[in-house]
Amino acid sequence: MNMLQHARNQVLAQIHTACQQAGRDENTVQLLAVSKTHPAETLVEMYAAGQRSFGENYLQEALDKIEKLQDLEIEWHFIGHVQRNKTKHLAEKFAWVHGVDRLIIAERLSNQRADDQEPLNICIQVNIDGQDTKDGCQPAEVAELVAQISQLPNIRLRGLMVIPAPNNTQAFSDAKALFDEVKTQHAHPEDWDTLSMGMSGDMTEAMAAGSTMVRVGTALFGARPKKD
Ligand SMILES: *Cc1c(COP(=O)(O)O)cnc(C)c1O
Repeated sequence: MNMLQHARNQVLAQIHTACQQAGRDENTVQLLAVSKTHPAETLVEMYAAGQRSFGENYLQEALDKIEKLQDLEIEWHFIGHVQRNKTKHLAEKFAWVHGVDRLIIAERLSNQRADDQEPLNICIQVNIDGQDTKDGCQPAEVAELVAQISQLPNIRLRGLMVIPAPNNTQAFSDAKALFDEVKTQHAHPEDWDTLSMGMSGDMTEAMAAGSTMVRVGTALFGARPKKD
């Protein structure tokens, strides 16, 4: 067994254990492999180990890999910060966008998604623990965003995405409560099924609180080179 396969099995075992401890079915948690900074060849190896969904943060780097790996059946997720002038590429090339935090971004994605493509899956990013960052809307803004974004034609609004400060497990519970609460605002509540939270260092706590998608990089691929 190669190293990536071994690492993936370890992470899947961690998901299994966390779900068992939380009294949850392990099939309610999806593993997103966060492959930013890693070359296409590494993704091919992880794909061979059985992984199908990959998360990328940097648009140009992601577009290069999508081009190179177009013959593989990969589900591409964009998990980075969404810039308004980059939405066209996201709408064309990705299956999921996790970092939507304004209505205008969702509107552009909906307009730029081709009608013959599946609707684009998106999550609303929430700054759940009041961090000093420009990324993510405020919790108080989420209900209205859900009401508005869930009406857009080429979008499937799937849920929320959060990146709390390290060791802030309360933030996971807060995100879960908000996730449950705002579902009532959704025009198609049956689409509201994704709580994207938890990374290599805190995935167990995130799953205990109700995460349905963990975004895991380091635990699968090893440490990344530092980016400045
Ligand atoms: C890089 C990144 C991850 C993965 O982080 P690890 O600690 O390497 O697992 C998850 N989510 C987002 C938004 C990221 O930018």
